[in-house]
Amino acid sequence: MAEPLSIAVEIRRLSLTYGRQGSQVHALSDVDLTIPTGGFVSLIGPSGCGKSTLLRILGDLLDPGAGEVRINGKSPKAERLDRRIGFVFQEAALLDWRTIIENVALPLELHGSPRAKREARAQELLDLVGLKGFERARPRQLSGGMRQRAAIARALSTKPDLLLLDEPFGALDQITRDRLNMELAHIHEVTGVTVVLVTHSIREAVLLSDRIVVMTPRPGRIESIIENDLPRPRSLETRALPLFEDLVRQGNLELEKGYSHV
Ligand code: ADP
Ligand code: MG
Repeated sequence: MAEPLSIAVEIRRLSLTYGRQGSQVHALSDVDLTIPTGGFVSLIGPSGCGKSTLLRILGDLLDPGAGEVRINGKSPKAERLDRRIGFVFQEAALLDWRTIIENVALPLELHGSPRAKREARAQELLDLVGLKGFERARPRQLSGGMRQRAAIARALSTKPDLLLLDEPFGALDQITRDRLNMELAHIHEVTGVTVVLVTHSIREAVLLSDRIVVMTPRPGRIESIIENDLPRPRSLETRALPLFEDLVRQGNLELEKGYSHV
């Protein structure tokens, strides 16, 4: 008999309003979402629909206004303090005065891990993300794609259970983006980390995730959830399957519905 799926993320009736009375922005309204352990969920929707807000709440960068958020049964704060959550933004935000390996090892350094141990872990991650040979380079010597690889390695350094990515590949050219998509699929496969990816690209969402959450703006709500049963492991060839184009079409239709509310 199959093991029951354990739950990584549980969101119940989450709402969030920015600002004070008179100048309020109702960013999220009644969001319910459950993500199984090891799942890969993409959030997609028009600008301003609350995708980053939702991710910031999961990462404990923002307090939920109303409702409940559990990560592995605990609060986002407990999980963040325990370093169970990795965060990657559109801009890699690496420290320019540190080498790449020192950047990747930084969360472990802050955690008090000894140099040999943290550098061994950072090396393992640089190999995983395809940056072997760039350990001693400075961030500005790397291309945008390579900096994002380093940012992903840094986010994985503490072996998080949950990886949050906010439009991480939005600034990259298509070929680099394709490559990094496949790196992310590989990382998800080998580490078993639960992933929540915010993207503007429905094709990226279909290529990578098990479930695509389409949001609508003002206030941000979940318009629909598309289950994606494309076979794994995924590869760029996955895009040639008829089901891939069906899912892209379905995603675009749901997205258009969202825009009709604007
Ligand atoms: P998305 O990532 O989907 O583009 P955001 O979560 O960044 O959307 O923003 C959702 C809404 O909340 C937008 O209308 C945005 O202008 C507003 N917003 C975001 N951050 C703040 C803030 N710190 N103060 C006030 N309003 C904000
Ligand atoms: Mg955003």
